[in-house]
Amino acid sequence: MDMPAPDPRILARKAHVAARLRAALDGARVIDAPQDVIAYECDALSAYACPPLAVVLPETTAQVAAAMRVCHEEGVPVVPRGSGTSLVGGALPTADAVVIGLSAMTAVLETDFDNRFIRVQAGRTNLSVTGAIEAQGFFYAPDPSSQLACAIGGNIAMNSGGAHCLKYGVTVNNLLGVTLVLADGTVVEIGGPWMDAPGIDLLPVICGSEGQFGIVTEAVLRIVPRPEGARPVLVAFDSAEAAGATVSAIIRAGLLPVAVEYMDRPCIRACEAHARAGYPDCEAMLIIEVEGAEPEIAAQIAAIRAIAARHAPLEFREARDADEAARIWLGRKAAFGAMGRIADYICLDGVIPVSALPQVLARTAQLAAEYGLEVANVFHAGDGNLHPLILFNANDPDDLHRAEALGADILRLCVEAGGCLTGEHGVGVEKRDLMEVQFAPADLEAQMRVKDVFDPHWRLNPAKVFPLHLSAARRGAA
Ligand SMILES: Cc1cc2nc3c(=O)[nH]c(=O)nc-3n(C[C@H](O)[C@H](O)[C@H](O)COP(=O)(O)OP(=O)(O)OC[C@H]3O[C@@H](n4cnc5c(N)ncnc54)[C@H](O)[C@@H]3O)c2cc1C
Repeated sequence: MDMPAPDPRILARKAHVAARLRAALDGARVIDAPQDVIAYECDALSAYACPPLAVVLPETTAQVAAAMRVCHEEGVPVVPRGSGTSLVGGALPTADAVVIGLSAMTAVLETDFDNRFIRVQAGRTNLSVTGAIEAQGFFYAPDPSSQLACAIGGNIAMNSGGAHCLKYGVTVNNLLGVTLVLADGTVVEIGGPWMDAPGIDLLPVICGSEGQFGIVTEAVLRIVPRPEGARPVLVAFDSAEAAGATVSAIIRAGLLPVAVEYMDRPCIRACEAHARAGYPDCEAMLIIEVEGAEPEIAAQIAAIRAIAARHAPLEFREARDADEAARIWLGRKAAFGAMGRIADYICLDGVIPVSALPQVLARTAQLAAEYGLEVANVFHAGDGNLHPLILFNANDPDDLHRAEALGADILRLCVEAGGCLTGEHGVGVEKRDLMEVQFAPADLEAQMRVKDVFDPHWRLNPAKVFPLHLSAARRGAA
């Protein structure tokens, strides 16, 4: 993976830039010692790392704006950062960039239960948004598996999803407004605590823009009342095809479970060894959760049982109480940690039409065999969002290259199947060079023109999202 060489003129002015940031930020932390900035050299895609020029940890929107103004005046690139859990290198710095980290911006600014919204600073973690409102019977629906750590600003930048997004939608469906600091330090409000803001609807343009258009400092989020009840079932199959076909049939029938999660044998084994959730020994397993009032839950589970029965399940396990429900989820929730115990892995994030699941899973297994690598599958099957985990040995450069090449082939397969390169993790640097598989040159040019509007000098989160050779002229002009 290539990154552009840092600008030596900026590197030479490091002390001057740090001093200006300190003077402008009125007490907020500015870190520039080499032994300290190293903590910000990478995100969760730790195969790539580069210590930044400096790191700023503001506490207010005004401080973010002040830092952006200094960087704008000095011509220094800026990398926005939430909690650094990006799996695609979205928060990977360059040596000549200032990281603006929002981890100190965690306040709840307003809650309004009558109008069902919460306003938070963008560094607040996803799970602690729900933590602030659960006593009143509400929750914030998007639930990335990283929700204990990842921040709302990062969720907005990546349009993050999670297991429960099949029913409630992903971040963009639960976002009402943002406060955004532009590259020159201008502060703008987009949307607000009402259902439909006047004017051009820019919110979906910002959501998913991967830190390319500005820094989100505050967010207004939709909150929803907790359902009366919820119940998961576990369905085991002796083939990936049977599990995939069951998912397609559930969706085709118009049922709307809150989650449909898929795990294959390598993943089930790893989770079982790690979490001891009592999972069956089988080729593929679905966890399907439904929610609502008791009669609604019973009716949905009966319909799912009837559909699953047509695909000869080895087991259909319905949780009878809260303990059994927690055990069904236990292994799934520990899946990424469990896989990390047995090998290094690259977590992919492709999307396919649900109906293509059986063929895509079969072809993925063939590709893995051709590359001589193991792939474990754990993913949000209900919305066709695949997360193949490619297992490899990070100490062996050849293994890493093979894993990357296999990952690229699997993502190409997703596009060929009528899907796309990313469901929820974003493009970052990981899929940057695959964007031309999905988009024609004219499409990419149109997307880059949108960036021209928000960031005319191309200084925000440089060298991400767009293939380097396509963005070179714009970045060079900066
Ligand atoms: C174990 C694990 C499980 C995961 N599970 C899921 C999952 O289920 N679903 C899912 O969607 N993702 C998942 N992720 C990926 C990751 O957690 C999400 O992409 C998350 O939204 C990133 O948030 P963050 O605060 O860590 O952002 P960072 O990693 O700090 O940054 C991510 C991107 O957002 C930009 N950014 C960050 N903050 C701002 C801001 N305030 N304004 C503008 N741009 C900003 C950064 O420049 C970068 O491009 C998982 C990651 C891990 C490690």
